[in-house]
Amino acid sequence: MQGEHQIDGDLVTRFTRRIRGDVLRPGEAGYDNARTIWNARFDRRPGLIVRCVQADDVMAGVDLASSEGLPLAVRGGGHDYAGRSACEGGVLLDLSPMSQVRIDQERKLAKVQVGATWGDFDREAQAFHLGTTAATVSTVGVSGYTLGGGTGHLARSHGLAVDNLVAAELVTADAQLVRASETENPDLFWGIRGGGGNFGVAVSLEFALHPVGPNVLAGQIVYRFEDAAEVLRSYRDFITGAPDQLACYAFIIRVPPIEAFPEERHGEVAIDLVVVYTGAIADGRKVIEPLRALANPILDWVEPQPYAAVQQTFDAGTPKGLRWYSKAHMLPGLPDGAIDTILQHAELLPGAFTMVYLEPMGGAIGRVDPTAMAFPHRDAAYNFHVLAGWQDPDEDERLTQWTRGFHQAMAPYSTGGVYVNLLGEDESDRIRAAYGGNYQQLVELKRVWDPQNFFRMNNNIPPYA
Ligand SMILES: Cc1cc2nc3c(=O)[nH]c(=O)nc-3n(C[C@H](O)[C@H](O)[C@H](O)COP(=O)(O)OP(=O)(O)OC[C@H]3O[C@@H](n4cnc5c(N)ncnc54)[C@H](O)[C@@H]3O)c2cc1C
Repeated sequence: MQGEHQIDGDLVTRFTRRIRGDVLRPGEAGYDNARTIWNARFDRRPGLIVRCVQADDVMAGVDLASSEGLPLAVRGGGHDYAGRSACEGGVLLDLSPMSQVRIDQERKLAKVQVGATWGDFDREAQAFHLGTTAATVSTVGVSGYTLGGGTGHLARSHGLAVDNLVAAELVTADAQLVRASETENPDLFWGIRGGGGNFGVAVSLEFALHPVGPNVLAGQIVYRFEDAAEVLRSYRDFITGAPDQLACYAFIIRVPPIEAFPEERHGEVAIDLVVVYTGAIADGRKVIEPLRALANPILDWVEPQPYAAVQQTFDAGTPKGLRWYSKAHMLPGLPDGAIDTILQHAELLPGAFTMVYLEPMGGAIGRVDPTAMAFPHRDAAYNFHVLAGWQDPDEDERLTQWTRGFHQAMAPYSTGGVYVNLLGEDESDRIRAAYGGNYQQLVELKRVWDPQNFFRMNNNIPPYA
């Protein structure tokens, strides 16, 4: 269904001559593979897919879509919860062939092409025992993740991905290549650190690196759901004073049917404390000791492991091709009422892959001025996320309703803000909340860099108030 966005055949032939990567039309070999994104709820058919291999291809793709008035979608790792990395008709710029990661060991910098995943990144950086804040699932794209903020196991030690971004190259709405950093187009640099793909198509990103690994202390301490109230209260009190080197997410999941867990617990709802300590292993063992004694765990496995392997722990639990629905809140704290509400809703946990988690913020994240860049949530204590995951389309209504009900019940405990990368497709009315006090400055920036709102397949910031 291309309708009004049908693309003329001669135009495509002329365009293809300008492009070094593949250009795919519906029905051609590789087209279906290139258009498929992580969340199977979105099954879109672009009129043309440009598999970009260099910045020139991106510039030509932007030029084509802009001059022909075609919708444009941009795909980095394709993991957008709201499915905005593909479009119906129009032009899809698939950046996945641009996946080079170059490490400058001396200057502790990484220059990354925007089709790289965090798995690509960690593989290269860990060769030098270096890293930066990265997604907790290795298949997530570096670019979409970073442009929205980027939380992860290293964030309390080293800040968000945007706090480690030192420069970017972007293709703007008029198909020009520009650099953005503290000294080059600093207004644009302010905006892309949280403002998503609103201002251009990033083609490369440069990150500061930190010593990490090769081994870190990591694992899981899993408690029964009947102990969850007590576990979460103690967890909250513990986290308040925990060192920055400790990342400890509290997940509510169904116990997977694997040998590590007693068989009689398989399929039960449980509370899973996911621990990653990036300081000295011996110190970490002491730090996490209280977390092991919150009740009687059904699994307690926290050991030194390669950091790159830790970064892949959750890949199997979040496979591509399922149906997913996401809702989130930033929380200023975790009062007993919030814990009770979480447990009341999470007890049901419908959908085989559904998870709910609390991600402690604080540490280095909270030491950045909320106006220093577009990402504003510096005083939040937790990022709270309900992520429903299931297979059968007949379950869509039940799972989305459950997620909405849970999310609504948690609203009284929210800062009112939300992490932009976790917004669902039906939350355009929450984009202002995602930017808080920085929203108006982003609107003004959009007027400068994209006054026609050409880049709009994203959590869109229209160029008017
Ligand atoms: C399994 C899973 C685990 C996750 N874990 C984390 C986590 O630990 N921490 C966290 O912070 N977030 C996490 N996220 C959320 C993640 O940050 C977002 O889904 C993010 O958008 C994914 O980036 P991507 O490149 O894969 O997505 P894409 O779907 O390719 O892109 C997302 C959006 O960004 C735009 N975009 C992508 N690349 C570019 C570019 N180069 N230039 C301009 N615009 C671009 C797209 O057009 C789209 O609007 C996770 C998501 C999933 C699905």
